[in-house]
Amino acid sequence: MMAPRTVSVFGATGSVGRSTLDLVGRDPDAFEVLALTANGDVDGLARAAITHRARFAVIADERRYGDLKAALAGTGIEVAAGEGALIEAAERGADWTMAAIVGCAGLAPTLAAVRKGRTVALANKEALVSAGSIMMAAVTRSGATLLPVDSEHNAIFQCLASGGIDEVARIILTASGGPFRTFTREQMGLVTPAQALKHPNWSMGRKISIDSATMMNKGLELIEAYHLFPVGLEKLSILVHPQSVIHSMVEYRDRSTIAQLGCPDMRVPIASALAWPARMETPCQPLDLVAIGRLDFEAPDEVRFPALRLAREAIETAGSAPIVLNAANEIAVEAFLDGRIGFLDIGRIVEDVLARSNLGPAASIDDVWAIDLSARQLAERLAAELIN
Ligand code: NAD
Ligand code: MG
Repeated sequence: MMAPRTVSVFGATGSVGRSTLDLVGRDPDAFEVLALTANGDVDGLARAAITHRARFAVIADERRYGDLKAALAGTGIEVAAGEGALIEAAERGADWTMAAIVGCAGLAPTLAAVRKGRTVALANKEALVSAGSIMMAAVTRSGATLLPVDSEHNAIFQCLASGGIDEVARIILTASGGPFRTFTREQMGLVTPAQALKHPNWSMGRKISIDSATMMNKGLELIEAYHLFPVGLEKLSILVHPQSVIHSMVEYRDRSTIAQLGCPDMRVPIASALAWPARMETPCQPLDLVAIGRLDFEAPDEVRFPALRLAREAIETAGSAPIVLNAANEIAVEAFLDGRIGFLDIGRIVEDVLARSNLGPAASIDDVWAIDLSARQLAERLAAELIN
């Protein structure tokens, strides 16, 4: 029997984190849980740490340290809190690390695991959007293995096993179009957070659900793909496919197009990364194409969904545009979820912050943090102005 692989999950209480632990927990002989982390959900983290017999539990919010310590008293599980502890957990060196913190908050631990040359399963797309070049350079330097978990990127990663990257004619990222795919701008102006949180196909965390409704999610994924698969922006395209059955495709120069299909359950791409380069059993539903009946496709609409244009322009502008785009979007999404701004204000704030920011290069990770912070502050000010 093979020795168990050690697994750490960053963002263990979230949607991707819980799906990951669901798979890990099904085969306790194969996996041993090293570190689990969460932001403020002490109960969720303590429960997961006990269930999966983790060795180390880290709560990012330092104010919750005492609560976590109390919840895990007598279990023998080591407890720590704060951003430094997140990085320490990343550096402890699991065989396989899931990066599933939401937002740029996941950047430091993800980069720490990459710099240690680890195998990192990447769900945390915002980290790659903000620090793509730095992260990919660190992967090359350390010899880390980066396994894409975002369903589209995991699909592309699987399709790329069919040919060389230099033989790719086009990478086609599919997009469901979100809950407002058929809405006019006028209709979108009236939608509530509850409506925007209802994704037609996927059950996900709150932030990515709003990103899917604005289609900023696909914009972030375009930037993510740009870094993960170095074929150039002109070979990356987006195709709206409302059923979310084809998760993405790669067209080769001979015009053979390879697609990856599956039911919309994140455990499929997570399992692919967890067992890579082998395959594992999952409890997921097999694909029933007769029941699905038909697959539809549409061109993306950058006018109704300006986030798609903003993300494409951010790649073209390069420099710090993607950092600013991501930071402004994180703040605007939060403001929308809090009921402080309207749905269409999200795109307006992102566009405005981009227009008012210096988009020069970001050479170091400290530059990334500084640019991220000033974009957040500007986005907060613009959101406050909208309320007044
Ligand atoms: P979620 O909101 O459900 O969970 C986020 C996790 O991150 C939680 O464990 C939370 O405690 C932790 N966290 C939040 N803020 C933090 C902070 N400041 N510091 C430390 N930890 C923090 O999010 P999710 O839907 O699971 O998404 C996680 C990531 O995966 C995102 O980047 C998202 O874009 C990506 N992703 C998610 C899905 C999905 O189906 N949910 C699909 C593809 C990609
Ligand atoms: Mg995705």
